[in-house]
Amino acid sequence: MDHKVGLGYDIHRLVHGRRFVLGGLEIPFSKGLAGHSDGDCLVHAIIDALLGASGLGDIGRHFPDTDPRYKGISSLRLLAEAVDRVKRKGFEICNLDSIVVAERPRLSPYIPKMKKILGPALGLGDDELGIKAKTNEGLGSIGEGRAVACWAVAAIRVKRGGKKA
Ligand code: MG
Repeated sequence: MDHKVGLGYDIHRLVHGRRFVLGGLEIPFSKGLAGHSDGDCLVHAIIDALLGASGLGDIGRHFPDTDPRYKGISSLRLLAEAVDRVKRKGFEICNLDSIVVAERPRLSPYIPKMKKILGPALGLGDDELGIKAKTNEGLGSIGEGRAVACWAVAAIRVKRGGKKA
């Protein structure tokens, strides 16, 4: 089969004293996402979707959070490396869709800017990359503003003229 899909999920705690970085974009907010890297759980979910589709495992295998090289790193650098590994395995990315679940801040005004960052990083046009933001209706840890969760699904295919991986 020339087409494959992958699913990614990630959740990070919202804590004081951290920058809030999501989809590669720094967003003004009183809290930020905890994490070994910049905590960008949208990019982490996207990476897991891509690696999963390619049969390459998961983000923890490629970029372990025990590795000091990744401390405080921009997740966009991890994404660039993940995209490179997917391409080296002989695939190209067809499209990617994602959902961010956050009670606050309101994220919809920032989605166009996230797409301007992530589109080129993934080699995808505007209508090939989906980012949707929603609240958790006040329910659970996300609804209480203690965490942000993200889902992503990626479709990839064997590169035209390339070998099947
Ligand atoms: Mg993560």
